[in-house]
Amino acid sequence: MAEPILSQVAIVTGASRGIGRAIALRLAADGAQVALVARSLAGVENVAAELRSKYPTRRFLAFACDVSQLKDVGVVVDSVVKELGRIDILVNNAGITRDNLLLRMSEEEWDDVIATNLKGLFNFSKAVARQMLRERRGRIINITSIVGLIGNAGQANYAASKGGVNAFTFTLARELATRGITVNAVAPGFIETDMTDAMSEEAKAAFQQKIPLGRLGKPEEIAEIVAFLGGPLAGYITGEVIRVDGGLAIG
Ligand code: NAP
Repeated sequence: MAEPILSQVAIVTGASRGIGRAIALRLAADGAQVALVARSLAGVENVAAELRSKYPTRRFLAFACDVSQLKDVGVVVDSVVKELGRIDILVNNAGITRDNLLLRMSEEEWDDVIATNLKGLFNFSKAVARQMLRERRGRIINITSIVGLIGNAGQANYAASKGGVNAFTFTLARELATRGITVNAVAPGFIETDMTDAMSEEAKAAFQQKIPLGRLGKPEEIAEIVAFLGGPLAGYITGEVIRVDGGLAIG
């Protein structure tokens, strides 16, 4: 099959495994060139190598960068623009959990989660929005969580960060709408990745019982919605949070 003449340029944070990796593969399947970001270079290099061998005529870049570090994020965004010419899609996916009940939660557990999940979002969105404003087009897609909508005992830090992601999404959507840039969020429920593997079998079984569709989700099921939001059919959607959770958070 012939490659598209002008392929989209996407940045995906947290792209070394789990949901971010699935998103990178899915956007590449749609013809995009992708810049992959994670703290471990080996992780993103693996995914980039897989993509290069699958789509040899396109470029896939791997960057070791902690999203909470403003200066490092600036360097990544500048490099992507220099190497690939522009940025069409930003997927803010990097995220961590450090669970504990509030009274046992350390300051470090609170700060780490807010720094990655929320400050990382600020850092990347600001640097990329500056470029998208020049282009007068773009799609920003934030990976939030249903925990940011309904809360979850033991995740005050994570819930606060994801509630913040939702509020940030609404606000940035309003700020950037007149410039042709849409900003949306995808809220996964319980998805099979390393993040949820860390939970005990008991906790997983309890969660699964509460999911109306009766099963955990797959990273590819999140990637599908991200590809839709980044694609040509989603141009009139902005400021939306789409749940992909098997019905777990039905109101
Ligand atoms: P995961 O398997 O643990 O992967 C997390 C990814 O983020 C990895 O690539 C990791 O690579 C990267 N990362 C972590 N901290 C980073 C930092 N400071 N800077 C740059 N990269 C960083 O997680 P996942 O389950 O795929 O989750 C992805 C997103 O979906 C997160 O935002 C999460 O909150 C959200 N989500 C997941 C679920 C679920 O059930 N899995 C549900 C709701 C929402 P390095 O370790 O190399 O940095």
